[in-house]
This record gives sequence, structure tokens and C-alpha cells, in this order.
Amino acid sequence: MLNEKKYIVFLLLLAMLIPLRAQVASFRINASGESRNIFASRLYGAKWMSLNHFFNTFGEIRSLDTHEWSLSASLGGVEYVFYANSAFYLRNGEWRHLPSTVERLSYGLYISEAEFVRILREDAYPDLLYSESDDHYILMPGDFSVRDISLREMKNGTVIRIRTSKTFPRDYCRVWQGNNSYLYISIYDASADLNTLARSYPSGVIREIIPVMAKESLQFNVKLRMRIDGMEYFIEPESGDIIVSLRHAYQKSATPLDEDGMKQRWLIDTIVIDPGHGGSKSPGAVAPDGTLEKDIVLDVSRRLGSLLESRLGVRVVYTREKDVFVPLWQRPKIANEAAGKLFVSIHCNSSESSRPYGTETFILAPKSTEESIAIAARENKVIELEDDRERYEKLLSPEQYILSTMAQGIYMKESESLAQAVEMNFKNRNGARSRGVKQASFIVLIGPAMPAILTEIGFISNYNELNKLKKDSYRQEIAHALYLAITEFKENYEREIRN
Ligand SMILES: [Zn+2]
Repeated sequence: MLNEKKYIVFLLLLAMLIPLRAQVASFRINASGESRNIFASRLYGAKWMSLNHFFNTFGEIRSLDTHEWSLSASLGGVEYVFYANSAFYLRNGEWRHLPSTVERLSYGLYISEAEFVRILREDAYPDLLYSESDDHYILMPGDFSVRDISLREMKNGTVIRIRTSKTFPRDYCRVWQGNNSYLYISIYDASADLNTLARSYPSGVIREIIPVMAKESLQFNVKLRMRIDGMEYFIEPESGDIIVSLRHAYQKSATPLDEDGMKQRWLIDTIVIDPGHGGSKSPGAVAPDGTLEKDIVLDVSRRLGSLLESRLGVRVVYTREKDVFVPLWQRPKIANEAAGKLFVSIHCNSSESSRPYGTETFILAPKSTEESIAIAARENKVIELEDDRERYEKLLSPEQYILSTMAQGIYMKESESLAQAVEMNFKNRNGARSRGVKQASFIVLIGPAMPAILTEIGFISNYNELNKLKKDSYRQEIAHALYLAITEFKENYEREIRN
């Protein structure tokens, strides 16, 4: 009798698990014929789609708050905010109602597929079609001057073709190589449906193509798997298409050893730890009892560094190892010169009220808005003490900001997953409170050519949290949570490279 019961429970568990596996909703992009599968799940007898995965693929995720579990995203110029367990969502700041609530499954928010298709038809894709024969939704791009981007792999090079519906003058195009394994293609006065132009390739020289709109230019950030030996571009007279050819020595028939060597370059082998503030010039936040932020964060940084070195076997580079002043602009420079693969800036929070407590982790805001600058004001404040203040003021001006943050924007997805892993691991400790992942215009996050986060490990303006942060065992606990998050991130990231 008992055994039979166990068996039924086992079957029930199995039945609950099976529907979670390998469900997808498929979308085809009409211009390219390319098809993308979006994670889906079966709930209450219907198909539910991952909003995170959808916006990551076709739109843009602005922020994912893992405290309140809300997702802000944009698609085709419309801004959405969805909330877990809520039947209300925001569309361009206005409340809309859904027949059923948005659900949260692990890290993602899920919405009923039928409902989501209705939203898509209302906004970005009025002509959205459903093809019953192959169970695909078909997204129709509008009338844009740049319609498609495709690749052709040759023996000693790769040709990128940008299909256009008008002929651009040659000097409207600019192609250049960054110092960070990226190639940039910028087309002035171009329009495009960004949602249909993102590409990723499982093998070959090009890993990913990320389209972005920067002022009046359409820019493709082309993430490379390996170094290229040269490139040129021209406008094809007959078609008006923009052709970019890359020369490189890599061939698919290369010996496995070469391929391993190539992959080696992408592994997370160097981690840069940036203990905030330092020196008499910049003590950071000051606790009511005189405890200084700069001392707490240096100690946590050292603890984290030694965990990373001893257990993960990576090289650790510090932007400061002692109580010295390092200007903000120099910190990303140290990281880039050390060929760092991750940048982790460690700070303590403080507030005028003694009430707030908990951790929060930031990634760079994609736009400099008054709000994003205001959030970062406390940590950027030190620039008032630096010699070349103008350098920073220019950096934060809306025009310059977009250009300067482009390098970091490329790593947005990675920075966000790292930040999420950090907050998850902070939260998993006893009695911990995560305030979630947020965005701000921190100067120190602008420069690093690698995934970068700034984590606030607690409020020293809160008595309880201050007392904890003053304890060795608690600082070790914080360092350990950061170490676990980095390990998790590294494993996921490198798994992607190996495939
Ligand atoms: Zn700070």
C-alpha cells in the first residue's frame, strides 16, 4: 500500500516535470527566412512564452528586477513593464489589463502565448501571421532602408552583406575594428527594424551581430571569435547593398589544437576586482560610528580575490590593493590593460535615513537620464575632487554617453546575468534582503571592455547591517556569495563557448 502511494507520487511528480521540458513558440523573420524559437512552457493547459527570452531575441530588455520580479522591455518603440503574478502591465506608461496573470518560472516571466500574440499585433507587428503548416508566427518587417544582414563564409575570409532598399553614399558608411574583438559597421541616416537584424552564429569567425541605433546612425556591433587580418567595404553598384569583407586565416579544417587555442582567448581567466574609493581623498560613505566604506570594501575585495585565486584558479587583478586614491577613469583602464574578462566593483550603500538595508547590484544604464545619473551621484561624487573634472562632465552628456557606453553595451546581457547571479547568491544567505538588479550611470562601469557590475553589499547607514559588516565572518560570507555568483556565471558563459 505504502509502495503504491510512493509510486503514484512519483508519477505525479513526473507528470509535473514533463511539460516543463523543451516547449517552444517559433517565430520566423520574413526578410531573412530565419526562424527563432522562444522558450515556452505548458501551464493550465495552454502554452506560455518566456517574456525574457522573447525581448532578448526581438526587442530589448531594459531591466529585470529580481526583487519585485518585474521586467521592463521595449519592442518597436513601445515600452512595456510586466509584473509577476499580476494581470496588469504597463504600455508606454499606461496600465493595461490581461485576462490572466503573468507567471514567474525560475528566472523568467511567462505570459500566455495567445495573449502575447494579441499584444504583438496591437503594437509592433500588426501584420503578424500564423502559419499552421509549420507552427510558426511570421513577423513582417516594415519599409526600412536596411532590410537584412547575412554572412558568407569563404576559405580565407567572411563576407557580410547588408541588404538595403536604397543606395547609400560610401561616406555614409563607416567600418572599423575595436580593440576588444569587435568590428563596428555604422550607416548614417539608415532606418531598420532592429528586432529582425540581430544574428548569432554557432561557429565561424563571427559570433554575433548586434544592431543598435545611435543618433541618426544604424550600427552593427559584430562580435568576433578570433582576430581578423584586415577588412574592406564597398557599395555594390547593381544592388546598392553594403558589402564588408573580412580577411582571416582561420579555416574550419584547422587542427583541433588551433581551435582550442582560439577558444582559450575567450575564457574567463582574469577577473578585475575594484574596491571602491580609497585614500584620504575618497573615504566613500561614512557610518554613524565613523566606519569607512573604503576599508570594508577593500577587505571584502581581498577575501573575494583569494577565494577566486585559490578555488577557481583565475588571475585576479585589483584596481587598488592598499588604502590609496585611484581616479575613477583609471579603474577601467587598469582592467582593460590587464585583459580582464570580468569587472566587479565593490561598494557599500548609505542613505540619509537609517532604515534602508540590503544589497543591490548595478549594471550600466544604456542612456544617461537624469534618473540614472542621480542614482549614481553618490559613487560618482569623487570626481569633484579630481583634477580633470571636465573629462567626466563630457562623458555624462547625453550625446557623448551613448558613444562612450557602446563598448559596455555589447556586454549588457552578460553584465545583467552576472548581476542577477550576484543578487541571487546574496539573497540565498540567511535573513538577507536583495533589493534587486538596477541600472545607473556609474562612471566606473563605462570604460571596461568586459562584462561589468557594481555591487552595493549593504547599507552602513543602517545600524544592524553596519554591525554585521564590521564582523569578519559576515564579510567572508559576502565574499563567498560573490565568489559563488562569479563561479556560476563563468560556468554558464564558458559552456556557451565550448558548444
Ligand atoms: Zn562607494
